[in-house]
Amino acid sequence: MKETIYTIPINESFEQLCGCPLCRLHDKLESDSLEYIMGAAMMESDVREQCNTKGFCSKHYTDMLAMQNRLSLALTVESRLCELKDILSQNLKKPMSRDVDMKKVPTLLTDTSGSCFVCERVDSFMLQYYINTVYMWKNDDVFRNEKFARTPYFCLFHASKLLEHGAKELRKKDYTPFSEEVVAIINRYLCSLLEDVSTFCKSFDYRNAGKDIGNAKVSVEKAVVFLSGTCVNLEDYK
Ligand SMILES: [Zn+2]
Ligand SMILES: [Zn+2]
Repeated sequence: MKETIYTIPINESFEQLCGCPLCRLHDKLESDSLEYIMGAAMMESDVREQCNTKGFCSKHYTDMLAMQNRLSLALTVESRLCELKDILSQNLKKPMSRDVDMKKVPTLLTDTSGSCFVCERVDSFMLQYYINTVYMWKNDDVFRNEKFARTPYFCLFHASKLLEHGAKELRKKDYTPFSEEVVAIINRYLCSLLEDVSTFCKSFDYRNAGKDIGNAKVSVEKAVVFLSGTCVNLEDYK
């Protein structure tokens, strides 16, 4: 199968055979997007304009605060504040129609405070990754048998996305084995996770004091990652 800008990262992520491959793609897109915003994007007027209009969600502002380039963030925030000042002054400047225009302000603020340039950028790439993963499962035997089938698990969120796009992209005769495979992968992982979490819970019983519980030590963190797709560094909990 011909490789494209979307199939190469998908192949690379599935090849690692570790964690949820779609979480890994998401995290890479997110960090690349933040680097881009704090660097080259500031030179591109159309991107600057979109950042000014959409702003960022609390998670991505927090991520940018943790990055080194404070001047870049200051310039981004300055432009965003100017944009918001314009929105407000446009609506306050017209005394004759003030009542009507002031009614728009809550909607304007709700819209602008609820949007995020990074989230939207990541989501639009992820959409292509879901569609291409389904396409590769259908058309690339090596990907299907050696990568997809050997995936340790998909987190619940990404399993739901694969099933949603599988249903849209595949014919019924292909969707049935595709959905069965996705469900079998998450079920296999869920069963081993449940066993480990139960072992962890039982380790609090005084009769089990001092027993080595091996992998079950990080089972709660693993369960949170699986259930929420949250990126937790399991090394921090060992
Ligand atoms: Zn995931
Ligand atoms: Zn965001």
